[in-house]
Amino acid sequence: MKITRSGQVPSRRGPEDWFTGAVRLDPLFDGDAPSRASGVHVTFEPGARTAWHTHPAGQTLIVTFGRGLVQRAGGPVEEIRAGDVVWFEPDEKHWHGAAPDTAMSHIAIHESVDGSAVTWMEKVTEAEYGG
Ligand code: MN
Repeated sequence: MKITRSGQVPSRRGPEDWFTGAVRLDPLFDGDAPSRASGVHVTFEPGARTAWHTHPAGQTLIVTFGRGLVQRAGGPVEEIRAGDVVWFEPDEKHWHGAAPDTAMSHIAIHESVDGSAVTWMEKVTEAEYGG
């Protein structure tokens, strides 16, 4: 058993190459083999979002605060709220972020394949974000 105490792991800023706007990453866990799962609490300020990306083994989002937006390639921009749970299929291209005027936080859980849990792509444009 391992207990990771709150406040032990420093917060990080979401890198500009992968995010638009102010995003804070708070790592929660990084499973030891044979687990390949990891989790991070992500906080998006209003208007902030990920770039387009995929996860090789899919991803679950648990929305913990506020109101946000998600979209899979080819689908509509959809609203998410605290308490919602979102599943993205393996290799499903998508983005997630805050609503334009409202912050959003979620826990993201994903598994790595060959050492990688995400493939980053192009930024989400203002036109895409606006739906
Ligand atoms: Mn994702």
